[in-house]
Amino acid sequence: MSKSLVVAIDGPSGSGKSSTSRGVAERLSLDYLDTGAMYRAMTWALLERGVDLLDSAAVGRAAEDVRLVSGTDPHAPTIHVDATDVAEPIRSDEVTGSVSLVAAVPRVRELLVDLQRTVIRGSSGIVVEGRDIGSTVAPDAQVKIYLIADPSARAARRAAETGLADAAATELALARRDEIDSTRTASPLAKPDGAVVVDSTHLTLDEVIGAIADIVDEAR
Ligand code: C5P
Repeated sequence: MSKSLVVAIDGPSGSGKSSTSRGVAERLSLDYLDTGAMYRAMTWALLERGVDLLDSAAVGRAAEDVRLVSGTDPHAPTIHVDATDVAEPIRSDEVTGSVSLVAAVPRVRELLVDLQRTVIRGSSGIVVEGRDIGSTVAPDAQVKIYLIADPSARAARRAAETGLADAAATELALARRDEIDSTRTASPLAKPDGAVVVDSTHLTLDEVIGAIADIVDEAR
């Protein structure tokens, strides 16, 4: 029996991961899972419930009662907490400022990694983006990409996406999130073994999508 295709795309914030991963999935007619959106949705739900995010035991306990559902159509990805569509509120500054704290809690990672593996098992071919996909969630993925970009290019992109004029402040906020993501004990952000590094600094989105689609075509 041939295994279904998994393309793992990891990398720091603002490397162009989301647009790239969606684009690759659309081009190759694959499903798409944004695991960052799941950590964001968990953070949104815990903030809504008034959980003290500095208390990791309380965060881990409360996380067990949060029901997340991710839609995997790359043309229209969705994310719900219970029946609430949270696609918009999970991009708020409040969630963005707290998500790395929540993502560092081992129980939260356990729950979400389980959920991510269930989605992957249910798919016949999927692009999964995050920070620990090639290392922890799907170490057997046929294709592993580690997408990087210079800090200034990442900040300029993220500032454009969010409509913020202040690229310098954005660069600082990204660096802070990367620092927490890379130094946490549970599944820190790092290039997974066997990953191909793609540097998007001097490439257009279309070029990055094309380069990764070629790597996937060669692997399958
Ligand atoms: O990709 P995005 O920037 O939306 O991810 C938000 C946060 O979720 C990251 O900064 C990181 O703390 C966390 N995350 C993670 N593991 C993943 C995906 C995201 O820890 N696989």
